[in-house]
Amino acid sequence: MSDCLFCKFVAREIVPDVVAESEHSLAFRDINPQAPTHVLVVPKRHVENAGELAKASAEELADLVLLARAAARQDGLVDGYRLVFNTGAQAGQTVFHAHLHVLGGRTMEWPPG
Ligand code: 5GP
Ligand code: ZN
Repeated sequence: MSDCLFCKFVAREIVPDVVAESEHSLAFRDINPQAPTHVLVVPKRHVENAGELAKASAEELADLVLLARAAARQDGLVDGYRLVFNTGAQAGQTVFHAHLHVLGGRTMEWPPG
């Protein structure tokens, strides 16, 4: 999609701070980190949210989660990390290209705010 920020990252029309890449996914650092590690993992395919990605391709959804795991390992998050898909505006989704947040490097509270 031509006006989608994360599609522009995938196409490198705008170059994010990339930490890892796979066949179907791209991982880069969030511009406004909420934890010492805050990486976003996006599918190269433009879909609005995780559910749409699962419907389109279970393989691409698995690729996304595995790249998140690789990014967490790369940052040395041996004590754990949190994966979040905000889905819809009420849940806090602001960019409508599916993305998996990888958060770590500090203790996480539950439930989140
Ligand atoms: P959402 O609120 O949709 O779940 O997450 C969107 C995320 O994208 C936010 O954490 C926000 O900080 C991040 N973000 C927004 N604009 C940019 C940008 O230009 N570059 C990067 N790297 N992250 C961005
Ligand atoms: Zn997009």
